Amino acid sequence: MARTFDVVVIGAGPAGYIAAIRAAQLGLNTACIEKWRTADGQYALGGTCLNVGCIPSKALLESSENYERTQHRLAAHGISVSGVKFDLQAMLERKNQIVRKMTGGIAGLFKRNKITWLQGHGRFVSGGTTWKLEVVGEQGSEAIEAHHVIVATGSRARHLPGLEVDNRIVCDNEGALAFDAVPPRLGVIGAGVIGLELGSVWRRLGSKVQMLEALPSFLGAADEAIAQEAWKVFTRPGALEIELGVGVGAVQRSASGVRVDYTTADGKASVLECDRLIVAIGRVPNTEGLGADQIGLKIDARGCIEVDKNCRASLPRIYAIGDVVRGPMLAHKGEDEGVMVAEIIAGQHGHVNYDAIPWVMYTMPEIAWVGKTEQQLKAEGVAYRSGRFPFAYNGRALGRDEADGFIKILADAATDRILGVHAIGSLASELIAEAVVAIEFGASSEDIARICHAHPSMAEVMREAALAVDKRSLNG
Ligand code: FAD
Ligand code: NAD
Repeated sequence: MARTFDVVVIGAGPAGYIAAIRAAQLGLNTACIEKWRTADGQYALGGTCLNVGCIPSKALLESSENYERTQHRLAAHGISVSGVKFDLQAMLERKNQIVRKMTGGIAGLFKRNKITWLQGHGRFVSGGTTWKLEVVGEQGSEAIEAHHVIVATGSRARHLPGLEVDNRIVCDNEGALAFDAVPPRLGVIGAGVIGLELGSVWRRLGSKVQMLEALPSFLGAADEAIAQEAWKVFTRPGALEIELGVGVGAVQRSASGVRVDYTTADGKASVLECDRLIVAIGRVPNTEGLGADQIGLKIDARGCIEVDKNCRASLPRIYAIGDVVRGPMLAHKGEDEGVMVAEIIAGQHGHVNYDAIPWVMYTMPEIAWVGKTEQQLKAEGVAYRSGRFPFAYNGRALGRDEADGFIKILADAATDRILGVHAIGSLASELIAEAVVAIEFGASSEDIARICHAHPSMAEVMREAALAVDKRSLNG
């Protein structure tokens, strides 16, 4: 007889494994199906985020930033260094160890919470009073049943039609996190978040990086002032070379690497030649082989599983969360959806505040925001006031020699309620947490302005930006 669970989660990325843990915490008999295998064939938990996404990319960003800082930024502190070298294999091994530690940690959490890990590919077979599923793994296939199913199958890299990704010369995120040597000339298609983060890693380690972006504007989702500042810093001489508004044509493997034919923004034919190429043009939701059509689960025009605001799919007792549904493809958005649906299944009132989800890019300077951009407020006809304060006037930023960038706060003109906070600068990823709390609690800019911030700290820039909304910054 088939094993029957209260909840079966398909996929153990950040959305799925958090949903499974929360469901188990709430006393539900929970299983999680995961098919991910490491290069040496071991099944692993953690999904894209832990294996080939957030965690390994941040490890390499940190290592490469340390190398660049040691080479170029210590002189300002009166420290001279010579003969600075790096060992790429050691850097990659450090990254791999962090990944192993984190994915192994989830296996431990599953054990502690008595979650059954079903290793293999999961798919729907049929419905009824329970959902019937099949798990196909190394040990063969197993039929299981579930009262509730949470689909958390995530996403994979979008590839260019007709261009084979071998993850050696032509790479998506997986290959780009594991180059065995620093490519002297690195091409990147797509100047979005993956292109900028991974382009930064390899540039710091010595690659000449050329990026081709289809859109005529840079970082379209960010606040325009932030995007302009980022453009200024990222494209300084010797930094990233980014061409906007290009039309990528034929991409061919050549004897020396890759040749990309493209048209420039003003319509001229041009060629990019590089040793390795990263294709970072967005991600596609994973729904193939899921048996969605077999049970009539609706998929929307963009390939996402159709869900309502509570992540309920089109069929009873089926939920979908994370990258496989609408909304930003961010690990923490999926985690929050995981908690929400587990609580709803357990009869509680789970919810996600989609207006308070932070975005972070771990470039240097970092970029982080929450809430509305200035261009969104203009388009919506909302009357707002804006306050902005630079890190260059902050003692801690100067002491750390990290004085690029600023924080900008947008507040409702009538109520002063904070509508958006936008930061570009060192530690923006950490500083944004204060703004997320403020938006979640419906705070005004006056609230932030009246909260005591430690001195000297980068966080004082948040307070000064809040004061600037009312044109009364104290230090600038
Ligand atoms: P995934 O993490 O993709 O996990 C889905 C899991 O489901 C996978 O393990 C897959 O094997 C499994 N699966 C799929 N189908 C089946 C099936 N039928 N049966 C069994 N198992 C199945 N986001 C951030 O918030 N911050 C970052 O810094 C960040 N950095 C990133 C860097 C890179 C290079 C990349 C590629 C992404 C990054 N992201 C980041 C995005 C983040 O990784 C995703 O938003 C997140 O992983 C989505 O979580 P998920 O659980 O929905 O899906
Ligand atoms: P993205 O959407 O951030 O950027 C893709 C870029 O490629 C866009 O600017 C797009 O205009 C461009 N593009 C698309 N087709 C093109 C073409 N044919 N030629 C040239 N340019 C083209 O996607 P991504 O960088 O692949 O990242 C995928 C997702 O992963 C992101 O949307 C994000 O949600 C997530 N992610 C998040 C983080 C983070 O939170 N720090 C880091 C990495 C990835």
